[in-house]
Amino acid sequence: MTVGGVAAGGGGGEDPSQSAADAPARVLVVGSGFAGLHTARALERTLPAGKARITLVSPTDYMLYSPLLPEVAAGVMDPRHIVVPLAQSLRRATPVLGFAVDVDLERRVLTVQLPSGQTRQLDWDRLVLCPGSVTRDLPVPGLDEYARGFKSLAEALYLRDHVLQQLELADVAQTPDERAGRCTFLVVGAGYAGTEFVAQMQHFLAGVLPRYRHLRAADVRWLLCDTADAVLPELGPALGERTLRLLRGRGVEVRLGTSVKQIRADAVTLSDGTDVPTRTVVWTAGVTASPLIAATASRHRLPLDKGRLKVDAFLAVAGWQDVWALGDGAAVPDLTRPGQVTPPTAQHAQRQAKTAARNVAASLGVGRPGRYRHHDLGLVVDLAGRDAVARPLRIPLSGLAAKTVTRGYHLMALPSTGNRIRVAVDWLLDAVLARSAAQLGYIPEGAVALPAAEHTKLYQAMAGTAGSMALPHGQHPPSAATSG
Ligand SMILES: Cc1cc2nc3c(=O)[nH]c(=O)nc-3n(C[C@H](O)[C@H](O)[C@H](O)COP(=O)(O)OP(=O)(O)OC[C@H]3O[C@@H](n4cnc5c(N)ncnc54)[C@H](O)[C@@H]3O)c2cc1C
Repeated sequence: MTVGGVAAGGGGGEDPSQSAADAPARVLVVGSGFAGLHTARALERTLPAGKARITLVSPTDYMLYSPLLPEVAAGVMDPRHIVVPLAQSLRRATPVLGFAVDVDLERRVLTVQLPSGQTRQLDWDRLVLCPGSVTRDLPVPGLDEYARGFKSLAEALYLRDHVLQQLELADVAQTPDERAGRCTFLVVGAGYAGTEFVAQMQHFLAGVLPRYRHLRAADVRWLLCDTADAVLPELGPALGERTLRLLRGRGVEVRLGTSVKQIRADAVTLSDGTDVPTRTVVWTAGVTASPLIAATASRHRLPLDKGRLKVDAFLAVAGWQDVWALGDGAAVPDLTRPGQVTPPTAQHAQRQAKTAARNVAASLGVGRPGRYRHHDLGLVVDLAGRDAVARPLRIPLSGLAAKTVTRGYHLMALPSTGNRIRVAVDWLLDAVLARSAAQLGYIPEGAVALPAAEHTKLYQAMAGTAGSMALPHGQHPPSAATSG
């Protein structure tokens, strides 16, 4: 069922904002993450109220500050403290809650699936696509059923409960085999998400373990595996090596050059043939652009680069002068490293937002357009306790110096003062109080299997209708290759 009609104007390649000279242009931003929220906020600052009506479409009414997700999973932080509510952070833009499921560039119409299940169509004069990325799914038997991703608040809360539940069940296990399986946790992917997750959770469990009468430290086993030959390759060999030593020193088994062959309910087979009894597989083996990007590219034959939508240095989509894309879903040329695209990081997404807003405004006669050019400021990785590694401005840091830079960076990057204060207070309380090991039970297991967590069915339904109709007979859609 469709609610809300298409407003007048749009389509046919004309510019309705020019034909109706006095009417504010309709600017539509898709996604409320680092790229989307910051684009909307920059547009609010740049464009006078009479010049544009800004609408932000997103399935969540908040922006998630994902770099602190591992600390939510480990119970350091209250989940509400790392989300920035749209209602409080947008002054003028109107949020519309729902998934964009179809982008019709010719008619300039966006179809949104509302939480009620109804659909609504929104039209635009300017469109900014920032739907981000989803967990990379690979053809590993059992992955969709038994592995859990780590990109959303639901997944972080579920994993915290799940890991605590495994300890509780292991504490009363009937057999040593059952206890071993429940106490073994496998994380796949040694980038920042997987490495931070394993470091934070290992530290968390080491702290709460004495509360379980029948479990000892030696019972708990953490494994981190990756096909690459280093952890945190983003940070360079020296810091990667330091992190590796630190994790191994804490008892984490790090298996490099190793992938997963099969996942079952109670065991995993690794590529070297080892069977690992476990009921916990956390899948952080990279990301791929949102399925909305693949569907839109397929429908309009837009070029992709490893699944991300190709844009130029102005973040504009080739052939569509009023459409921009940025963030994890877009392949943005990196002018500081010719021939490469910017990596899928929050730092780039947030900075690209300024360029996108500037160029949208320029297209409406306010200011001049500009290219995206940003020197990477480096990465910060919190490894729990007193440990961290960071490479701000290419200076390798570890220990207390890295911890200070890491926390300082997060406080600076959080987009609201309220969040900054809450996060700082959480760190302070965590330094002096014992963490709770109670399960909260908010998130049912069915909500976090990979296809459910990524809502892939929504887009599959669309591909079976509008998307496939747009392709000439016999032509196959571009494949959604992966990045990150
Ligand atoms: C655990 C973890 C730790 C990380 N740590 C770091 C770090 O330390 N440093 C760093 O630079 N990066 C880090 N990242 C990566 C960083 O979070 C991403 O690069 C960044 O979020 C990308 O911004 P984005 O706006 O493109 O996507 P996102 O922030 O993911 O936002 C996408 C938005 O689009 C919405 N959306 C999705 N589909 C649709 C749709 N169909 N219709 C409408 N809206 C839609 C989503 O709900 C969301 O609001 C981390 C990521 C994770 C998961």
